[in-house]
Amino acid sequence: MDRKVVKIENAAFRCKEIPLTRKELRELFKFHIPCLCCGLEMMHPDEYTKILDDHLLVGKAYDVVKVLEPYERIMHPVERQVFNMFKGMAQKYPEMDFQQLLLLKKEIHELALVKIQSNIFNKISFYRRILPKKTARALRKLIIKTNDIIFDPKPHKPFSRRIFIHKLKQIVSNIENAKIREEIITIAKRLPRSSDEVCAFVVKNARKKSEIIALNLIHPSVGTFEHLMPKCLKGQNNSLNFALECTHCNNSRHHYPISYQIEENPYMPENAQYHFDKLISLCNKKLCKKEYVENLSKTLYNLSEGIIEADINNLYK
Ligand SMILES: [Zn+2]
Repeated sequence: MDRKVVKIENAAFRCKEIPLTRKELRELFKFHIPCLCCGLEMMHPDEYTKILDDHLLVGKAYDVVKVLEPYERIMHPVERQVFNMFKGMAQKYPEMDFQQLLLLKKEIHELALVKIQSNIFNKISFYRRILPKKTARALRKLIIKTNDIIFDPKPHKPFSRRIFIHKLKQIVSNIENAKIREEIITIAKRLPRSSDEVCAFVVKNARKKSEIIALNLIHPSVGTFEHLMPKCLKGQNNSLNFALECTHCNNSRHHYPISYQIEENPYMPENAQYHFDKLISLCNKKLCKKEYVENLSKTLYNLSEGIIEADINNLYK
């Protein structure tokens, strides 16, 4: 399937009245809402801003671990694994900060990462055998350049998964056979990201300052307003078009259609139901408005082409 932005009818326009103000919607983050997409509990954005403003994550790992401990429960899986690694290391090296600790681990994780990456590059290289000459040559050039980066212990510029996939897409764009094009990109997408492999997190973050590393452990969990109909497609900038999503899911969707987000997150329809159940329980306690939930369910149904069909019957019991 082509990943171009698909224009969909703005379902949210049907309901005229804005059910919740931005402030009211933001208040909902107080109630441990699970993210609409991944289902993980979100952190209140104000809490994150406070930690940031007060520079609570500067200093020795031993102290920073104490500040982060209350948030361990809501960390995303890779971040939680890294945090646990820090907890153990901070006992052993109480004088070091997060960056120094990551540097101790960098080499071993870098080896693991390069192993996974080179395996994927090999699989992509295999396609040179069946591609038109010009495309095969361009692919060879890209892989050689990329191998130079990943096998260099101190590369001039670190490897970027995003840039690699972007260049690869350009190279394969003129392959006529859509199936082969799709296959190559699907393989490339298996390249580890810092959000799904500890080794990629360690390697990427070892270049960063301690405070940033610590912030990166909680940042994916911070709650955000996701524009259901993307802003660039004239999606409204109010609660008729807002869903509550964690930073990680919001950033990973970009401006793609919800059907693409579901493809990337197959459990999204189930997670959306948890999200609705929580909102309904808040409505029953008069902490959220029925109209918001009704509009959200209709908008999601339309934009997901019926894949997300939330059961909101409990709203009327
Ligand atoms: Zn999420």
